[in-house]
Amino acid sequence: MSEHVVVVGGGMVAHRFVEALTARDTGSAFHVTVVAEEDRAPYDRVGLSAFFSGSTPEDLTLGAPGLWESPGTTLRTGSRAVSLDREGQCVTTADGTRLAYDHLVLATGSYAWVPPVPGADLAGVFVYRTIDDVIALRDWVVRRAAELGRPVRGAVIGGGLLGLEAAGAVVGLGAECTVVEFAPRLMALQVDEGGGHALRRTIEAMGVDVRLGTASERIEADADGRVAGLRLSGEEDPLPVDVVVFATGVRPRDELAGAAGLPTGARGGVVVDEGCRTPDPLIWAIGEVACIEGRCLGLVAPGYTMAEIAVDRLLGGDATFPGADLSTKLKLLGVDVASFGDAFATTPGALELVHSDPVAGVYKKLVVTDDARTLLGGVLVGDASAYASLRPMVGAELGADPGLWLLPENAGAARPQVDLPAEAAVCSCNNVTVGAVRDAVTDHQCHDVAAVKACTRAGTSCGSCIPLVKKIMGAEMAKAGVIVSTALCEHVGLSRAELFNAVMVSELRTFSEILTRFGTGRGCDICKPVIASILASLYDEHVLAGDRAALQDTNDRYMANLQKDGTYSVVPRVPGGEILPEQLVLIGRIAQDYGLYTKITGGQRIDLFGARLEQLPGIWQRLVDGGMESGHAYGKSLRTVKSCVGSSWCRFGVQDSVGMAVLLELRYRGLRSPHKIKLGVSGCARECAEARGKDVGLIATENGWNIYVGGNGGFTPRHAELLVEDVDDATAIAIIDRYLVYYVRTADRLQRTAPWQQEHEGGLDRIREIVVDDALGIAADLEAHMARHVDDYEDEWAAVLRDPVRLRQFSSFVNAPDAADPTLAYVTERGQRRPATAAERAAGGTSSGPVLIAPTTLEVRS
Ligand SMILES: Cc1cc2nc3c(=O)[nH]c(=O)nc-3n(C[C@H](O)[C@H](O)[C@H](O)COP(=O)(O)OP(=O)(O)OC[C@H]3O[C@@H](n4cnc5c(N)ncnc54)[C@H](O)[C@@H]3O)c2cc1C
Ligand code: SF4
Repeated sequence: MSEHVVVVGGGMVAHRFVEALTARDTGSAFHVTVVAEEDRAPYDRVGLSAFFSGSTPEDLTLGAPGLWESPGTTLRTGSRAVSLDREGQCVTTADGTRLAYDHLVLATGSYAWVPPVPGADLAGVFVYRTIDDVIALRDWVVRRAAELGRPVRGAVIGGGLLGLEAAGAVVGLGAECTVVEFAPRLMALQVDEGGGHALRRTIEAMGVDVRLGTASERIEADADGRVAGLRLSGEEDPLPVDVVVFATGVRPRDELAGAAGLPTGARGGVVVDEGCRTPDPLIWAIGEVACIEGRCLGLVAPGYTMAEIAVDRLLGGDATFPGADLSTKLKLLGVDVASFGDAFATTPGALELVHSDPVAGVYKKLVVTDDARTLLGGVLVGDASAYASLRPMVGAELGADPGLWLLPENAGAARPQVDLPAEAAVCSCNNVTVGAVRDAVTDHQCHDVAAVKACTRAGTSCGSCIPLVKKIMGAEMAKAGVIVSTALCEHVGLSRAELFNAVMVSELRTFSEILTRFGTGRGCDICKPVIASILASLYDEHVLAGDRAALQDTNDRYMANLQKDGTYSVVPRVPGGEILPEQLVLIGRIAQDYGLYTKITGGQRIDLFGARLEQLPGIWQRLVDGGMESGHAYGKSLRTVKSCVGSSWCRFGVQDSVGMAVLLELRYRGLRSPHKIKLGVSGCARECAEARGKDVGLIATENGWNIYVGGNGGFTPRHAELLVEDVDDATAIAIIDRYLVYYVRTADRLQRTAPWQQEHEGGLDRIREIVVDDALGIAADLEAHMARHVDDYEDEWAAVLRDPVRLRQFSSFVNAPDAADPTLAYVTERGQRRPATAAERAAGGTSSGPVLIAPTTLEVRS
């Protein structure tokens, strides 16, 4: 005769409890009944916002439907437990049903707390906790927009994790949105001051209004009792709003337990011991309703741990709660936010390493021990690509300069490669260790991410650990000599080269069409820029056309190079390094007028540093008026064609290297590729242009040109190798056309020409057969591709200047488009300005310190 376990609450943690019990209770010792107040089976509350991007309630349903059909489980949806009789060991539901239990598990979660603001009960006020809440919010926004004949104005009260999720939902519904937060920064519980500022700037740049350090005093109604305004402390006029969402925190639903005499914590929650048991030995509490180690935990991972512990205890085990890992990685309003370990540096002697790009909204902080060896925690805003690798290393030695972890992802080769210990956690939602992922690959033959997910559960909740799972899986497979999947990412099962061909053949032109046809989900930081790059390589439409702007990295989005202080550099294109005196004067004048730092670059350009976002269009306009254009000093595209002076001036020159460089640069400018590409042309074998250090290098001979390929100066510098000798100009160009297009079509994401060439089947010899001898019969097609590129090229910067909509994105502040960013601080060095260091900022303004030529305070605008 089986014992009856009654679970009150049908949320995420109850679901995990039932799954774990049915999996482990092989002798059918228990029958479990779940009393669930909501009208649906347990669903993924963490993924609730996906509802606004097309997911249905069914998509959010957790686990296999068969779970509730097994004879050992009963799910009672739409049924609320209203009282608990501990003496009689039974629970009564709202319809009067009495359910006797042998063991009771309370998994009632939390409710959204609404502060006592007058007007909080008006029509048009919502919370954000359940599927019903989001359906009601969506219906209201859609209906009001139709009634008002204009976009709805929304306010989200609460600038924490949930508030920003809710703001994303409101914006996604086409409404305008203001986020109101009492604290002086956003996400105060997860990120520090610097992170909060970065987050604010990025969110504001997306058009969301942010009001910090202010309280909501009253919600005002229109004549029909609907929300019409929100009065904020210290502001004379109310904000005109049509919908208000409260995201002001949650409170545990401990009323059932409290009424039955079970102890509750000082701030609520059913008090349990380390085995998740209440003082009543027959009653457990798990998930958000449990007060464990003196507090309630509002994340799903510790809830899942508690569910596993309760199951273990029921089955006679002695599992204990290991403490909560409160690490989080989220994508809020499209911005990466992650916080892990000792994010606020509370450990004595802890050091903080900070990298900040204020305008781009990137802020990264690592907290390390006083000897800078051991990682304690961190905060990542705007670029959380290192999160998956860093979080498991909390408490471990970083093994290299910690600063390397703060580099952008596409400098990935520089990130230290660490062998994670087997016990390090990969997936904190599901408590999966590195060792478990390795075992899945070796012992259970899981050779793709889906198989590892199914076997270990890693990555099945929030999904932030998937990049790391993939990396561990790949390393393990490589060790075992198994071919590693070339899938681009979790969403696209094709390699970059396969996807390129698929897009080319299908002629699809938008990200969403491509993902629907060749992938799944909504895409990620890997597939988005790759698809943007493929579209740019195939169709010479503007780099920001259609839905592409949102796919681009910052430099591409703003068409200029982001520098360390958040300003940009502009690098006027100077084909072949050949420049008219009046063009030199023009560049000098621009630099003077905008106060820009100037430098001759390694690629024969004059780089202009320190331009603020809102100054870029003005600078481009002056270049255009002077017959010049900006060049690509960013993005994965042609950078420069370096050349020596060649036969026109040099005593040794045997060919016109400048003329050839000009021709090549004008031909390949704007060409998007898997990695940046540079070319070089030397007028004789003396090689003054160092052409063999380039992706494609030409060295003049008496008879024409020797072409070298696959050299570059990345992290592992390589000399280019000889592809073909003594070809004339036209042949040289045809071969370079073919080589470049073949590389663009077949290389992996972020793969430079050197590794592509090395890893190509048959190596350089095979590439030579294809691009020189036309072994595959595709030479004409490759040349035609390049010819289209050349014909369709347009000056991207001039195109932006002609487009008032695109021009609007070039402002530092949404609400003050012409205002300069007051956070920038400079000092003068060798007669030019450069960004002030942290020490100089701190000493700025004092008579002994360096002379600051711009302010140092972080802007706080309200
Ligand atoms: C929009 C949103 C985003 C989130 N994002 C994240 C995230 O990124 N990462 C993260 O870790 N966490 C996130 N969370 C929090 C996470 O969803 C919760 O920690 C988790 O759902 C808690 O699970 P639970 O089972 O304890 O409670 P719940 O999932 O709230 O389930 C409790 C259930 O019990 C029911 N119930 C309550 N009382 C009774 C009763 N008397 N009778 C019957 N049924 C009852 C409730 O109706 C509810 O369905 C997010 C939450 C929201 C709302
Ligand atoms: S490579 Fe030859 S042609 Fe060019 S500058 Fe040097 S010596 Fe002169």
